[in-house]
Amino acid sequence: MDYFHRKDGHLWCEEVRVGDLADRFGTPLYVYSQRTFTEHFRKLDAAFSDVPHLVCYSVKANGNLGILRELGRLGAGADIVSGGELVKARRAGIPADRIVYSGVGKTRAELALAVREGIRCVNVENVEELEVLDEVARSIGRRQAVAFRVNPDVDAHTHAHLTTGRRENKFGIPLEEVGRAAEVAARLEALQVVGLDMHIGSQILTPEPYREALRQAREVVAFLRARGFPVEHLDIGGGLAVRYDTEEPMTADEFHEAIIHLVRDLEVTLILEPGRFIIGPAGILVGEVIFVKEAGNRRFVILDAGMNDLIRPVLYGAHHRLEPVVDRPGDPVPTDVVGPVCESGDFLGKDRRLPPLVRGDRVVVFTAGAYGFAMSSQYNQRPRAAEVLVDGTEARLVRRRETWEDLLAAETDLIPGP
Ligand SMILES: *Cc1c(COP(=O)(O)O)cnc(C)c1O
Repeated sequence: MDYFHRKDGHLWCEEVRVGDLADRFGTPLYVYSQRTFTEHFRKLDAAFSDVPHLVCYSVKANGNLGILRELGRLGAGADIVSGGELVKARRAGIPADRIVYSGVGKTRAELALAVREGIRCVNVENVEELEVLDEVARSIGRRQAVAFRVNPDVDAHTHAHLTTGRRENKFGIPLEEVGRAAEVAARLEALQVVGLDMHIGSQILTPEPYREALRQAREVVAFLRARGFPVEHLDIGGGLAVRYDTEEPMTADEFHEAIIHLVRDLEVTLILEPGRFIIGPAGILVGEVIFVKEAGNRRFVILDAGMNDLIRPVLYGAHHRLEPVVDRPGDPVPTDVVGPVCESGDFLGKDRRLPPLVRGDRVVVFTAGAYGFAMSSQYNQRPRAAEVLVDGTEARLVRRRETWEDLLAAETDLIPGP
């Protein structure tokens, strides 16, 4: 579900023509529909209204301040994985008591920032981290609430790079280590174990992996409670899938229906950490055709947007739907849509049937709101794209386009400019 539609031969985002945005802000351009992510957040929030719960938006999916601010206003918390994400979530006005912090390699400086900010929970991923966090909290003179992030060893049936809850993944405390973690935590005075956490992967299409993980989690909750830890919340992570092409992901209500019986009797606050589900369908990437080139029986449409703007096609073999921004007449022809970067992996779509595009046409890449801009880079010394947030008839620049000057800004070996 999203608020991108076609009317009179043009692609619209809510009540704004995408072509007009490209004229006004240039390309490559990320465009986000506020109505779309608002609705996705609200649907998930409403689906779980029968239990105490908190939806902590996963900042790593898209950490734009404008988006974070809007989600915070709707009541979302934040799931962060770095000190930088904590800084952004706080700057966007998300209260510290709605922030949970996961990650396998949190540094002392990051943990200290989290303790000083007073965040709701640190999701601890190994026994050493417990000890370091305790030291940090003691030196600051605070107690810190923590949850054990366990690795339930379940197969999320997703792309190998997107699975995080298998024993061979680096994430979480293995189930057989939970006893030792509990023993260590029990004697650390600056820590208070208040929850259990897991995150088994991303782009998960069916409820079964969650159910399997929850069955494991229920045993761990019982184990921890029997040892005197309160376990006030259960965090089931993120991972809900979106539709890129022909997938049939779960709706929020279907997800709730499928898992809630495994949660309700635990009498916990349920925390969810969705990223992609909220922001994925709410974003598009728009590029402009620089050249069209026929070579070796292939038709290459070369855009000004490439893998440095959206790396998912080459990184995960992801299929993103592509269309011209403005209808173009003519029979569809097999087309490779590629970027300008000097890598054969720099493509947005291969062998797509698209109308015969010409120089100056704009192409839209759908479902690019999650892990799009967030994973973009300056590779090939390409300034990063601008980002625009659309709300009804209004379009607001929420990140200006980087410039060639920005490429120089952090470097120290400058000679005086001309
Ligand atoms: C990435 C991540 C998420 C969000 O995953 P989505 O698939 O975008 O919902 C949630 N929790 C943790 C710990 C993560 O690392």
